[in-house]
Amino acid sequence: MVKITISGRVQGVGFRPFVYNLAKKHNIKGFVTNVEKGVLIQALADEQNLDDFYDLILAQKPQSSQITATQKTTILSTEIFEDFVIKPTAPNLLIDIPLTPDFAICQSCSNEMLDTENPRYYYPFTTCTQCGPRYSITKKFPFERINNSIDEFIMCESCSQEYKNSDDIRFHSQTNSCPNCGITLKFTTNSGEIISESNTEIFKIIAEKLALGNIIALKNTAGYLLICDATNEEAVKELRVRKRRPTKPFAVLFKDTNTISNYLYLNNLGKSTLSSTEAPIVILNSRNTLDLAVNQIAPNLETIGAMIPNSGTLQLVTANFDKPIIATSANFHGSPIASSEKEVTKTLKEIADYFLHNSLNVLHPQDDSVMKFSEKYSKKIILRRSRGFAPNVLDFKIPKCNEKILCFGSDLKNTITLLPNNNCYTSEYIGDLENYDTYLRYEKTIENYHKIFNFEPEIVLFDAHPKYISSQLAESIVHSENEIYYQKIQHHKAHFAAILGEKNLWKSEEKILGIIWDGIGYGDDEQIWGGEFFEYQNNAINRLGHLDYYPWVLGDKMSKNPKISALSISDSNPLVRNYFDDNEWAIYTKTIQNPRIETSSMGRLFDAVGFILGFHQPISFEGEAAIYLEKLAQKYYSTPENKLIDYLENIDMAANCIPTKSLFEIIINHHQKGISVGEIAANFHYTLIKCIEKVASTNKIRTLAFSGGVFQNSVLVDMIYEFLSNNFEVHLHENFSPNDENISFGQLNYYLNIKN
Ligand SMILES: [Zn+2]
Ligand SMILES: [Zn+2]
Repeated sequence: MVKITISGRVQGVGFRPFVYNLAKKHNIKGFVTNVEKGVLIQALADEQNLDDFYDLILAQKPQSSQITATQKTTILSTEIFEDFVIKPTAPNLLIDIPLTPDFAICQSCSNEMLDTENPRYYYPFTTCTQCGPRYSITKKFPFERINNSIDEFIMCESCSQEYKNSDDIRFHSQTNSCPNCGITLKFTTNSGEIISESNTEIFKIIAEKLALGNIIALKNTAGYLLICDATNEEAVKELRVRKRRPTKPFAVLFKDTNTISNYLYLNNLGKSTLSSTEAPIVILNSRNTLDLAVNQIAPNLETIGAMIPNSGTLQLVTANFDKPIIATSANFHGSPIASSEKEVTKTLKEIADYFLHNSLNVLHPQDDSVMKFSEKYSKKIILRRSRGFAPNVLDFKIPKCNEKILCFGSDLKNTITLLPNNNCYTSEYIGDLENYDTYLRYEKTIENYHKIFNFEPEIVLFDAHPKYISSQLAESIVHSENEIYYQKIQHHKAHFAAILGEKNLWKSEEKILGIIWDGIGYGDDEQIWGGEFFEYQNNAINRLGHLDYYPWVLGDKMSKNPKISALSISDSNPLVRNYFDDNEWAIYTKTIQNPRIETSSMGRLFDAVGFILGFHQPISFEGEAAIYLEKLAQKYYSTPENKLIDYLENIDMAANCIPTKSLFEIIINHHQKGISVGEIAANFHYTLIKCIEKVASTNKIRTLAFSGGVFQNSVLVDMIYEFLSNNFEVHLHENFSPNDENISFGQLNYYLNIKN
């Protein structure tokens, strides 16, 4: 008899029914069940048969599964098996495997849903063992019906038959349901009046309402979305006004990838990413505006975030409405994505004209994940890691550790990371904690993890910023429980640790240069850091250099007004005088003469350069001026005959510091000389790349690791590959976003590896 243990993403993906059928086919006796580490199989047959069985499990595993480890041992057993069975999971099992994320609807379920003859015709919750919601409806693990919110629906006779029939694609499908026994839909006005509860009718009405320019809040598998006709300029404009979102781009839902190709440049990589089970939003370059209201969808940009339906609900919407549709998380500007009917009818009735509710409880709301690919080298850049990916951190080698650890992350683009067992979990993007609703979601997320893993932290890690809300919450937990050990971790060192951890670089014999560039973080010297060079060797991180300090003016105001960064870095250059009134000028110039705090923020330098090159208004979402600059640079850089110049070629970079003011002066000069903004923007990016090269060469370092929000910039990413990857080994994030979403993961890595 053999005992086989299979670990990885093996629960909620049809693994047990798959093993059952394989065993039956090969005349093997025994059982399969869910255990702490994944799936356990005990099998009895002759040796050759068992070997084949094992090989076939690995070779033919269910499509949605991911195996991380397997073990096969021969055991002696006196137990008698007459058959092969799926054993129910033992009660109160703690789990030690990745959680199963939501999967986009599969082709076969989708075909059934659109087939007039099928009993599941127009039933949007048509799912099978390979598709449908998982994490978003999970109360606890293992993934069994009783442990998730679909348990509120009792399977009808026909669904039970499918569940029990080993030849059926819904054999042991935990989310099985149909129109007779399952989830119901309700289409209402924004005052709650029911318009229809018939599935076949509702989607026709939705199409009519969209055509009239209405905005609809629609409940998708992981939370509500706001949708409207993406070709109707007035409707999209109205959505912006109601959502208080002046310029941040909206994502667009297209029927399928062929339709996307009519509007946007889509290569095979983009196509396969959009069609994957994670079904993220992918940002693509515009090809043909056609009927799209582009000026309202993505003002001043030439890209659009595109998605295809990831659920039956969205598929039925696009099947009835033959135009692209805006699909954006349902919330007020800055609040987390909403997921309960009660919540949305209260908070969103001023935004949505109509609501599409359903009766399935979403327990873990998640936004859609967002990513893009750099233009020249097609490097993946994750901008938001959420549905489909979170909370699993796969392929991460955790050093031996018996402590239960909770990491509180950063205040902007917050996530939390925990180590409750031998797996590491990083939550989905939660948001900016200064928004009270987001803060509540943050607390709730921590509480949910306590429940799923029966987890009490012994170690608490948080950002060194004394004023961060996340740090204050962490400290309050530490002080109420004196058994808890805690550590404050500097923001940019956490970023560096995140990329070292993601790429498993801790054991590197050679020195590694960390290039950590972002907006702001609290530095060890109590100044605001953000343009940092570190070196890593032998489990220690040292700061090598940074962007030369310049005055930090009025905190938050500086982050929102690129003109203030320009004023600060240019030492009150008369060129920027016109953009300030007398009063402002008096206050700001005085602060700059006697700054209390200084900064090395790369994000603010991008803002300042963006301002000089034409971005004059306050920003309405984080990174807006930097995105403007990236777009200018991209055009110039994409034209092969254009030459790039290193602005600092003849300037000495003493002490590994980038001379911020000299660089900025050169940029102003070139602008005054009438050199095109695109050329200056591209040269600015190129100069930064050359600065990295100089620091690396001066310090004789051959391995470079990048992190921080600045590396969401695809021009920089491409330039790293074009100009640095030949002479250096370069590492950029692939499974995490480079922005502050990776801070909590970095905090964990720092604690586990750094001995300062
Ligand atoms: Zn399916
Ligand atoms: Zn049913």
